Amino acid sequence: MKKSSAGAPSKPTKPAWVLPYKTQDLRTLYTIGQKLGQGQFGTTFLCTDKATGHNYACKSIPKRKLFCKEDYDDVWREIQIMHHLSEHPNVVRIRGTYEDPVFVHLVMELCEGGELFDRIVQRGHYSEREAAKLIKTIVGVVEGCHSLGVMHRDLKPENFLFDTTAEDAALKATDFGLSVFYKPGETFSDVVGSPYYVAPEVLCKHYGPEADVWSAGVILYILLSGVPPFWAETETGIFRQILQGKLDFESEPWPCISETAKELLRKMLDRNPKKRLTAHEVLSHPWVVDDRMAPDKPLDSAVLSRLKQFSAMNKLKKMALRVIAEGLSEEEIGGLRELFKMIDTDNSGTITFDELKDGLKRVGSELMESEIRDLMNAADIDNSGTIDYGEFLAATVHLNKLEREENLVSAFSFFDKDKSGYITIDELQQACKEFGLSEAHLDDMIKEIDQDNDGQIDYGEFAAMMRKGNGGIGRRTMRNNLNLGDVLGIPDMRLTN
Ligand code: ADP
Ligand code: MG
Repeated sequence: MKKSSAGAPSKPTKPAWVLPYKTQDLRTLYTIGQKLGQGQFGTTFLCTDKATGHNYACKSIPKRKLFCKEDYDDVWREIQIMHHLSEHPNVVRIRGTYEDPVFVHLVMELCEGGELFDRIVQRGHYSEREAAKLIKTIVGVVEGCHSLGVMHRDLKPENFLFDTTAEDAALKATDFGLSVFYKPGETFSDVVGSPYYVAPEVLCKHYGPEADVWSAGVILYILLSGVPPFWAETETGIFRQILQGKLDFESEPWPCISETAKELLRKMLDRNPKKRLTAHEVLSHPWVVDDRMAPDKPLDSAVLSRLKQFSAMNKLKKMALRVIAEGLSEEEIGGLRELFKMIDTDNSGTITFDELKDGLKRVGSELMESEIRDLMNAADIDNSGTIDYGEFLAATVHLNKLEREENLVSAFSFFDKDKSGYITIDELQQACKEFGLSEAHLDDMIKEIDQDNDGQIDYGEFAAMMRKGNGGIGRRTMRNNLNLGDVLGIPDMRLTN
């Protein structure tokens, strides 16, 4: 569904030029290389700047596909909008525009990582974490467009490209060929977009920027399940589904997907555009905000590696971490409460072994039963057989929080009940009772931490223990790292501190 008037009788008033100015010849400045992609209007080629040797992408639009003045205006508007949005980090940057009698060429930043669509097809669906990150970028672009008075109107996975082939590639929006400038309150009636992604009110010819959020919702549904929410054999069938079909959250894999994700989807795919979330509201939804905790690592491996590090800590450190974690603000805890609720499927307030196993599986981890058992035992500070919220926080909170001076000071004074400036054996015994820990090996533990051998722990020794790496086991586990890749190591955490 391009807004092209193809098929309609072409008007004789076809201008000669798209651009209101004359340009240099593309071929004197660039060498044109292989074809990169084919859209409905244009063909994109690799091109190389002859002066610098840098590679770019060149979208060439043949003028024979432009039938009337309106089509010419559309191309000119696409160029203006790309310039208008060019500061946005997730919008492909336009570099130059050229025109000859046969083509209009848009030279832009090269995206070598391929279309989002291809990654979805290859991988079926992503973990929720990854999907959350991608939709955050996509809706971030939508918010960026709307804040500048631009409606995209053709959001779909094919129009998002990864800039590099690397694992951490940035996702960038291309193809503003159907985008328009709008004023608040203005409504549109031309039916444009692509079948699966088009909003119901667009089909009813009365819509505004809310339609972009619907399309982003369709993309999210596909990211999580691999299939579009409104599907039929024919275009008319798809439209009927969009207008009245029920959202399917029963088929696989939906039963395994978090309630929060489904709740967000219901609000993005609300047929009433007035009730639908705005791009800004989507970005502040807990399921999307959550991802902030682990900006460049998927949450699953981050949580897992924290659990592993935790298992290598001594008792005092675990107790201290729990004291610190329980004193953190909701904001500092990030999405850990949501994550706890997600794993605690029966809402009992404690996580059982089976719940942990399911939870880890849902976020895509492939740990062996025995490894999960180890993690469970490590996090279960009081040996109750389950993990309560405090224990979960202690085991999963980002370790950079722990290293902050004020947190160390307050943890130290928690143990140093008589404010003598030392944690004594007596005080440790008391703490163990409070935490429901056995008091075996307390002596050994003190010996390990007590560097000056006076039988008690002063603040310096305490802080050194807290800041020290997590003992031999932890490090070795991380180095062998059960196929988790370079999960968060201590230096990494310092960076984010
Ligand atoms: P159309 O308006 O005709 O749909 P697009 O702008 O979507 O054209 O480009 C068509 C295809 O060309 C894209 O789907 C993509 O595969 C490829 N492409 C577009 N822009 C770039 C780019 N900057 N880098 C690499 N490939 C691109
Ligand atoms: Mg396209």
